[in-house]
Amino acid sequence: MTKPSALLKTLQGILGCGTGAEKYRLGSDPQFGLMAAEKIPDRWVSTICGYCSVGCGIKLGVRDGKAVSVRGDPDHPVNRGMLCPKGLTAHYAIHAPDRARYPLLRRENKLTRVNWDRALSVMVERFRKIQKEHGPGAVAVVSTGQLVTEEFYALGKLAQLGLGTPNYDGNTTLCMASAVAGYKRSFGSDGPPGCYADLEESDCIFLIGANIADNHPILYTHLERNPHKTVLVADPRISKTAMKAGLYLPLKPRTDLPLLYGMMKVLIDENLIDAEFIAEHTTGFEALRTFLADYTPAKVAAITGLREALIYQAALTYGRARAAFTGWSMGVNQSTQGTATVNAINTLALITGNVGIEGGAPFSITGQCNAMGSRETSFTSSLPGYREFDNPADRKELAALWGIDAARLPKQRGRAYPDIINDIVLERIRGLWIIGTNPMVSFPNQEFIDDALGRLDFLVVQDGYHSTPAGARCDLLLPAAIWGEKEGTYTNSERRVSKVNPAVAPPGEAKPDFDIFLELARKLGCDRELFPGWESPRHAFDEWKRVSRDRLCDYSGLDYESIERRGGIQWPCPDGERRPSGPVRLYENKRFPTADGKARLWCVPWEPFPESGNRQFPFVLNTGRTVEHWHTRTKTGGIPLLNNLAPEAWLELNPQDAGKLKIKQNQYVSVVSQRGRIERIRVRVTSIVRPGEVFIPFHYAETSANQLTFNIFDPISRQPNYKQCAVMVEA
Ligand code: SF4
Repeated sequence: MTKPSALLKTLQGILGCGTGAEKYRLGSDPQFGLMAAEKIPDRWVSTICGYCSVGCGIKLGVRDGKAVSVRGDPDHPVNRGMLCPKGLTAHYAIHAPDRARYPLLRRENKLTRVNWDRALSVMVERFRKIQKEHGPGAVAVVSTGQLVTEEFYALGKLAQLGLGTPNYDGNTTLCMASAVAGYKRSFGSDGPPGCYADLEESDCIFLIGANIADNHPILYTHLERNPHKTVLVADPRISKTAMKAGLYLPLKPRTDLPLLYGMMKVLIDENLIDAEFIAEHTTGFEALRTFLADYTPAKVAAITGLREALIYQAALTYGRARAAFTGWSMGVNQSTQGTATVNAINTLALITGNVGIEGGAPFSITGQCNAMGSRETSFTSSLPGYREFDNPADRKELAALWGIDAARLPKQRGRAYPDIINDIVLERIRGLWIIGTNPMVSFPNQEFIDDALGRLDFLVVQDGYHSTPAGARCDLLLPAAIWGEKEGTYTNSERRVSKVNPAVAPPGEAKPDFDIFLELARKLGCDRELFPGWESPRHAFDEWKRVSRDRLCDYSGLDYESIERRGGIQWPCPDGERRPSGPVRLYENKRFPTADGKARLWCVPWEPFPESGNRQFPFVLNTGRTVEHWHTRTKTGGIPLLNNLAPEAWLELNPQDAGKLKIKQNQYVSVVSQRGRIERIRVRVTSIVRPGEVFIPFHYAETSANQLTFNIFDPISRQPNYKQCAVMVEA
């Protein structure tokens, strides 16, 4: 396994870039074949990394209209000049040979080049026909977490009010929906309370289901800067992050919820709680105390497989800390009890007063670069500005801001992503517009999604690349500009709004998604009403500032120039208020956006995961990521530097199991579940996984872990249970 720091040094050496140094090694560029001199840019463009939600500042080097180099922005507060392997090679993705360059329309089973006017006319014609015959909701939209905020804001209005379908969601439901639902239920609103500075200021950092050394490498450097912390890591797998833990909790798969309850029970019994905070700022404590009687350390030890003493030690370390921080990611969210587990994390923080204080917070570590922007502005699980569909006052206020009749705003959210796919299988949804996502690799149970897409009357794929599996089977492909080619803002995990800038022109006739949305609105005849006078993302940003005013995610005091000057600014940033110079935390005043201003403490009984091992399928499969690749490898799969580091998927298998099955290191095996099989995958025999458990990274289309996973979802957030399903390994 490559250590992140060693990997960084190797890449920085090869690329001659990295921590702010403008040095270039002699020799040719391994990807473009450029000589050293040709890699020296004419100019540097400041922007933000377009991969993950850490939100690192990047300088993108441009020479003769081509992106030729990157380096970390030494002045950016998030990364201070550092970049991870993906950021260091981000420019290669821009000039990839499989970029989508022209609109393509399927004719006689072949995708054929057409002009934009024809492409959008056909799209409108086909979608309107479907809606006329089957109802407005028979067309659905699934977008991404990688557009700029201005595009999300425009797309929400266009989908819901222009196309007139309530069935609009994002692939963000696959990664962060449980965090959103959990925040709403605990605090009354979405919005991560903490910030990155907490990692440097806390004296107890509890990472649960979050392998940040692989998945958020630069965030990990914030933690490394804190000499006073104790790091607790709860993870069934000894991830790179777990290897660095001060206290590692090797719990059984999906037993994070009882672990949290066990810790709370110890804290209450030991009186390590904040009684004043509980009394004044929360509701539900007595019910919680009664509920926790069932989660004694002995019982929790039996469920989690952890020693009782370890549960005590974790609880006491957390409870005795001056300020305790809990960070979580997909290990928590991607579960049928994801929302309940997020609520338990929030409850643990609330009963100990670890909310709205320096170093103390529950904190969701988001996946995609602008999943947060999507959550704030979109029209998916909430109305823009974290307004609620079922709140008449919210609908009235938003309608007044837009100058429309409130009756046009839906009273409940439309179908979530998994339910859109179910409805396609049931042939209730007949038309689908996929924007910047690759469901044929990322959706659980590939056979199911394959069947669904095959049933559509009309499939539109809008993407920067024509090579995705969904792109290969669409009826219409709209070529989109990608990171490095368009303008707008991203919001990172700590609510920092940063400016994204174009450095080069998109290839061929590809356009920014924003321009595509405006042109489509013209075709639909709703442009003047929805986007009056809009020509650029700046117009969308100005309207969004008005729409977000006085909301938790208040952007009204932000402008492009100050965002750029300060390396990003965290919201809330109300107009006219003097900005604090330090980090911004939510709920410092201990008032929560609920009806009574108090946070809710939740008690949801733990349930085992839905498909445990059995005689035929004895292993529990866990899926996750590796530092070298991004999601479905649409970008990173075409970058030899990254691909050479992690060229193929692998199966982690414990030595005891390998011995029993007579499987050797590096041998190829098949992995089978009730839903599908991976025919050939290389084995890593390693104690990183425990006996009875296996792990596969999910990035690889040709060895897709999602051929095996289960399309079962959290009942509240609708997030898939990617992390546990039963499989067998065939030698
Ligand atoms: Fe980009 Fe995330 Fe890596 Fe930073 S940590 S360089 S934002 S991928």
